[in-house]
Amino acid sequence: MTQNGHSASAIVISCIDPRLVRNLPDAIRRAFGIEAYYSVSVKGGAKSVSEEDSQEVVLANLRLAVDGGVHTVIVLTHADCAAYKAEGRRFFSGEEERAFHFGELQAAMAVVRRRFPAVEVLSGFVLLEPVSLHIERVGQSETPRILTGAQH
Ligand SMILES: [Zn+2]
Repeated sequence: MTQNGHSASAIVISCIDPRLVRNLPDAIRRAFGIEAYYSVSVKGGAKSVSEEDSQEVVLANLRLAVDGGVHTVIVLTHADCAAYKAEGRRFFSGEEERAFHFGELQAAMAVVRRRFPAVEVLSGFVLLEPVSLHIERVGQSETPRILTGAQH
């Protein structure tokens, strides 16, 4: 679009959690191969895409980006998210948490696809690791699985 930093082909919807901020660009690059992207920070990331009280605000941000040339939308959730804790949700294992978030991501992807049928919709579950982030990519109809190592 322009030469002054407004050009990006993707938009990322992620949580406001400060633990994501510093390392998210690097994790996005590793998981999706994307260097520059528009960013929407909303509580729970994918959660705000699905919930009625926040959905229109998120979709309005997507509309602006898509009209500006964005053709890839990436929806994220992350482990240990306060937005879910705030509504009393508890997980008894990492697998249970992952399975729940995969469901959340599928729901958010469906919302985005319905509104923007021409865009590519990707998603991922962000794991908070000691010194970095790891994004586990989630396919459209994928079921959770146990990871044995980093995937790139
Ligand atoms: Zn969060």
